[in-house]
Amino acid sequence: MDHKLYQCRGCSANFCPFCMGGLKFCTVCNGAEGTLTTHCTGARLSVPQELAVKAGRLDYANGLWVHYGFLAQAVHGKRLPLVALASNDGFYLGTAEGEATVTQESTESFASAQLALEALASGSWTQRAKA
Ligand SMILES: [Zn+2]
Ligand SMILES: [Zn+2]
Repeated sequence: MDHKLYQCRGCSANFCPFCMGGLKFCTVCNGAEGTLTTHCTGARLSVPQELAVKAGRLDYANGLWVHYGFLAQAVHGKRLPLVALASNDGFYLGTAEGEATVTQESTESFASAQLALEALASGSWTQRAKA
């Protein structure tokens, strides 16, 4: 769904950030500017979600949360979505371009791709600090 942007009615302020400054603020998810996702989640963002969106590590589009790799951005300057990738000892969360792995982002490995993606969705995984 689209954001339900706040609109001033009968605004008489000398300078209004909404109608004069072009500030976008969604009355549903509470997102504004840096915390405004591509599409509206339909519910107020939690504080961790707001921080992650602001940091460019999380977005919501086409009905799904999209997580972006921290190391992909920090080390490679690339904004790549986190996916489950296979390794010799299981699956981990990381980023890839085509067939090539760019980063390994989770410290832990998971028994299946499904478990890795569930950990991603619930936030119960650990970010590697270094590539
Ligand atoms: Zn919204
Ligand atoms: Zn106004």
